[in-house]
Amino acid sequence: MNIVDIILDKRYGRALSDEQIKFFVSGVADRSIPDYQTAALLMAIVLNGMNEREMTTLTMEMAASGEQIDLSYVGDVTVDKHSTGGVGDKITPLVMPLCNSFGVKIVKLSGRGLGFTGGTVDKFSSIEGFNIDVPNADFPRLVKETGMVISGQTPNLAPADKVMYALRDVTGTVNSIPLIASSIMSKKIAGGADAIVLDVTCGTGAFMKTFEEARLIADAMIKIGRGAGKKTVVVITDMDQPLGRYCGNVLEMQEVYETLDGKGAHDVVDVTVTIASNMIKLAGKNEGMTDEELIKECKNRLRDGRALAEYLKLIRSQGGVINDDGPVYKDEPNAVYDVVSETSGFVFSVKTNELGHCSVELGAGRMTKDDEIDLGAGIRFLKKKGDAVREGDAICRLYLGKNSKLAGNEKAIETIAKRVRNAFDINSSRPLTIRPVIDVLGDK
Ligand code: URA
Repeated sequence: MNIVDIILDKRYGRALSDEQIKFFVSGVADRSIPDYQTAALLMAIVLNGMNEREMTTLTMEMAASGEQIDLSYVGDVTVDKHSTGGVGDKITPLVMPLCNSFGVKIVKLSGRGLGFTGGTVDKFSSIEGFNIDVPNADFPRLVKETGMVISGQTPNLAPADKVMYALRDVTGTVNSIPLIASSIMSKKIAGGADAIVLDVTCGTGAFMKTFEEARLIADAMIKIGRGAGKKTVVVITDMDQPLGRYCGNVLEMQEVYETLDGKGAHDVVDVTVTIASNMIKLAGKNEGMTDEELIKECKNRLRDGRALAEYLKLIRSQGGVINDDGPVYKDEPNAVYDVVSETSGFVFSVKTNELGHCSVELGAGRMTKDDEIDLGAGIRFLKKKGDAVREGDAICRLYLGKNSKLAGNEKAIETIAKRVRNAFDINSSRPLTIRPVIDVLGDK
C-alpha cells in the first residue's frame, strides 16, 4: 500500500477502505509516514469529509494505536464523561461525587488546560496535597475504597491522535467533523468505559460556535460510539457566556464546594444534574425513577450533603488536605480590580473566549505547555446575560494569586480590565432565551 495513493483517493473525494485507514494510522503512530504526507491527507479529509464507516474505523484504529485501558476490575458498568471545553467549566468535580452517591463507579482521566479553556487536572491540583498523577496500578484500590479515581491522562493513550492533533494545530486542519469526532472518541474508547456522556459546548467560548455545528459533531460522535458498541449521550450546553460565577483554578474549586453545599449557580446546577442523570441512567443506577424524579433527586443530593460527603471522600483518598471549612487550597485569590460598566442596560451578549483569554493573561491558564499557572488568578462574573446593569456597576472582579507576576503592575491589570469590559455588550434589550442545557441527544 502507498500513502500517496491514499492521499489522492481522498483528494478526489473517494471513500477510503478500512485497510487504507489502518495503514495510515499505524504509519502515523510509528512515525513511518512523514508529517507532510500526514498533513496532506488531513487536509483532504477536511475538504472531502468521511462517511460513517470511515470515521468509525479511523477512531478505532487511533484508539488501538496505544494503551487500551481495561476497567474490568471495577466489576460494574463504567461511564466516562468528556467536555469539549469552555470558560468556567467545573462540571467534572461535580458529577463525579454526585454520580457516585448513586453507586456509579468512575475512573476519570482528565487533561491540563491549554489556550483559553481551563483543565480539570489544574483545578484539582489547586487543592493542597491532592495527587492528580495516580499510577495505574493504584486505580483498582481507589475504586474499591471510594468508587472513584481521577488522574492526568497517561502519555500512551491514543498516540496517533497526539501526532495528528499537533499537526492539525499548525496546518489549519482542526475544524473538521470527522477529525474532531474521531480525536475525542478515540481517547474515550481507549479509556475503557462501557458508556460515554459528552458535553458538547456551543457558543462564543466553545470550539463549536453554533448549535448546527454542535449538532453535527454530536451526531458524528453518537454514530462512532454506537459503532464501537458504547452507548453514547451528548448534552449540548451553552457556552455563549462563562459557566457559573467564576473562572480560575482555586476560584472554581471553591465554587464546586459551594455548589455541593447547596449554593450553586442555577446554570452550573442545571448542567451538572443533566450530565449526572444521564450517566446514572447509562450505568443502570436510576432505581426505577422517571427522568423528572431522577433530576429532582440529583438536585436534592446537591442540597442535602450526600454529594458533598462523596466529594470529601474523593479528595481525602487522593491525599488532599481538608479542614473544618472544606478543602485547603494552595493559593488565596486576592481581589485586585472591579471592572465597572460605562453604560446602563442589560447584558445582551458576552465574548466568552475573550474572557477566557483575559483569565489566561491574569495567570490562570497557560498559552504554551510549559507555562506556570497562577492558581489564585481568575475572574468573578458579577453580571450574567439578561441581568440589568447601571452605569458604574461592577460587572466582573479580577483576582491574582499571592505570588502573581502582575502584583502591583496597575497598567497591565487595567489593560486586562479594559478587555474584560469590552467583552460585554450592554444593550437596551434583553437576550430572548438563555438556556444552559440546549439539547440532549443519543442513547438517553
Ligand atoms: N478536543 C480533542 O480532543 N480533539 C479535537 O480535535 C478537538 C477537541
